[in-house]
Amino acid sequence: MQTGQTNNDSKLLMKINFEIISIFLEYDNWHQALKQVFALVGTHVNVDRIYYFEIHEEPLTKAKLTSQRFEWVKAGVGPMIDNPDLQDLPIEVVEDFMKPILINTPFVANVRELPEGNTKEILASQDILSILVLPININNKLFGFIGFDDCTSERNWSEEELHFLKSITSNLSTAISRRNALIEVERKAIELTRINEELEQFAYVASHDLQEPLRMISEFLKLFEKKYFYTLDEKGKTYIQYALEGSVRMKKIILDLLEFSRVGKSNQILEEVDVANLVDDLKSLYINKIESTNTEITLTNVKKILCWRSPLEQVLMNLFDNALKYAKPDVSPKIEISMEENESKWIFHFTDYGIGIDPKYYDRIFVIFQRLHTKDEYEGSGMGLAITKKIIENMGGEIWVDSEKGISTTFHFSILKQPNK
Ligand code: ADP
Repeated sequence: MQTGQTNNDSKLLMKINFEIISIFLEYDNWHQALKQVFALVGTHVNVDRIYYFEIHEEPLTKAKLTSQRFEWVKAGVGPMIDNPDLQDLPIEVVEDFMKPILINTPFVANVRELPEGNTKEILASQDILSILVLPININNKLFGFIGFDDCTSERNWSEEELHFLKSITSNLSTAISRRNALIEVERKAIELTRINEELEQFAYVASHDLQEPLRMISEFLKLFEKKYFYTLDEKGKTYIQYALEGSVRMKKIILDLLEFSRVGKSNQILEEVDVANLVDDLKSLYINKIESTNTEITLTNVKKILCWRSPLEQVLMNLFDNALKYAKPDVSPKIEISMEENESKWIFHFTDYGIGIDPKYYDRIFVIFQRLHTKDEYEGSGMGLAITKKIIENMGGEIWVDSEKGISTTFHFSILKQPNK
């Protein structure tokens, strides 16, 4: 049974532990958190010094070293943070206390009782009478350790104290893991941005520089055809036609690639856009196709929204293009456009009743140059949806698709209601 005193002690330790968790949560920078936590723990468990050592490697030999990084000392106790002997210390030198630490076990000792050797010497030189060292393991790897020195008396740590200090160490491990994860995410984000920029630059330069030689090829082919029209036999003329068709397709690919690399680069102006109006403009662009196929277009709940007009127009145009292109043969296309909203975004739904898309290709269709059909079945460069996705993501939104093969396809996309200016 616990005595009233121990009960109070453990309540107090629990309270402090709670405070410490809050400190770790409050600070993104665990170095800052550590200063506060050490001061709080030091006062409550009445020790003379608390310190944190990190394990690191000698860059050339890869030998494991340990160095003191932080320290808290009680008033009147000599600090050790500037002691050069506690920097880059090969871990074998303090083998006695590293042995348990390396297998994730605490090291507890009264210095007087230690066997003669380096460990005893180093600890005694710092006037330590009693020591407790707790390892910090992250993902089963020793990251460092925290030590608690008593320079005033030899002591036997109570179960509660041990439990308390262990839980602090474990909170510290969590804080370090959190920090490491954040650093990793930031590093990856920077790396991704860099790779993206390089790719865009490459796409831009490549597509830009390819235009001129391509123009030359098709111009000279046309000249060749004109000059030798009466000399060429039918086969020769057909070959030239194939080559010219190829260059037209290539031009389309180059222009799409150029457009892809330019998404988000032009200085657009935010304006109020009436979506019904925008669709009307698009209808007039496609008027021939719409009339010849008897396409039916319905709008539901479309709004006036604040956005960049021309990227939105480009998105709807790409979806229109596809809805008309991938319509069922001999059936009049039907297109439905509707809108809804949540707190932060407008959500568009763009449905056609065409050939549909197999769910296993939902991701693939948004990747550049990925097509589900050959050019003989349907013309295209495989860039339309990749450009569409890039435009939407640039406007802070997302695009996804739902489809039932042979029945219908709905592209859903969202854009921010308050675009970042
Ligand atoms: P493209 O149309 O030039 O091939 P996209 O990037 O626009 O390139 O589309 C990629 C692929 O997605 C198309 O090849 C087509 O197979 C499929 N797809 C796109 N939109 C539709 C649609 N509305 N219905 C059926 N399939 C579609």
